[in-house]
Amino acid sequence: MSLTLHVDATRWRAHLAKVVEATPGIVPVVKGNGYGFGRDRATAEAAALGCDTLAVGTYAEAPDALDSFGGDVLVLSPWHPGVELADPRLIHTVSRVADLAHLPAHTRVLAEGATSLRRHGMNPAELARAAEDPRVEGVTIHLPLAGHNDNAAEAGQWAARLSELPQATLFVSHLDQVELEHLRETHPELTIRPRMGTVLWLGDLGALRVTATVLDVHRVARGERIGYRQNPVRRAGHVLVVGAGTSQGIGLDAPKANRTAKDRVKSVARGSLEAAGAARSPFVVDGKQRWFAEPPHMHASMILLPEGARVPAVGDTVTAQVRFTTSCFDAIHFE
Ligand SMILES: *Cc1c(COP(=O)(O)O)cnc(C)c1O
Repeated sequence: MSLTLHVDATRWRAHLAKVVEATPGIVPVVKGNGYGFGRDRATAEAAALGCDTLAVGTYAEAPDALDSFGGDVLVLSPWHPGVELADPRLIHTVSRVADLAHLPAHTRVLAEGATSLRRHGMNPAELARAAEDPRVEGVTIHLPLAGHNDNAAEAGQWAARLSELPQATLFVSHLDQVELEHLRETHPELTIRPRMGTVLWLGDLGALRVTATVLDVHRVARGERIGYRQNPVRRAGHVLVVGAGTSQGIGLDAPKANRTAKDRVKSVARGSLEAAGAARSPFVVDGKQRWFAEPPHMHASMILLPEGARVPAVGDTVTAQVRFTTSCFDAIHFE
């Protein structure tokens, strides 16, 4: 199989169990490509772990989750006019007070507070108004990624606001175990429900390995023109045709956030080759991450392997350093 995710099942499941054990009230997040594992697989794992609530990203993802998961299903995207989906186990996120008027009587709802993320949510005054609605079971906040904001302080402020409201459940994201413990200790009157995706599914990358199959190998001379675009190769060596391309999400990385000055210097340094149309592939061959010979296509990537590197044989596999949330694996092997 071409792009394969190998999961050290014992190690991965031990990690999942450890996170669930350490995180009372955890709500596993299963959205998009199921963090690389597929939503069905991740949902089954969440059920096996005994979780009572699952979070999905969108209303499009909710019906499958309601079918295969026996507990409650929380939709993270806010309810908006036009959503018809209803189920006694479905929990909606409402991020505008006005939306409550359009929701049917027995709907279950979380009212979302607007955090410094500024994506969705109500300000504290609006939240207080929404909280008077008996359908609102709890409050939910979504925080920036750890390290970019004082998430502990912000979560503390929202927790304090709940003391004025009838609800006693706060759904949170992006707090680490120490911050969660502190929140539980300072607000023992609240039930804290931490939503976790990345830290749960992808928190032990040592349990995961990605390989791709080499479909063909060719010798190339410097300046020889190859590929759909017929660009000359910059160095003599070999072209490897690896059986994974844009169809599997290869070469489609989301833009990187270049935060630090060092990051920016690094991307400028890469610029000369990148400006010449080159991009580093995710494939590691003979110990090094190699350059694409040209941008990848649907099911194949052409990789440059300079003279001197050990050349794999057709049928061999190479490892790939992919972004799991944008990869579509041909196979997942639990080993
Ligand atoms: C995706 C998402 C999460 C989970 O984020 P991770 O960083 O993957 O843990 C939690 N809450 C909301 C609202 C999300 O959209």
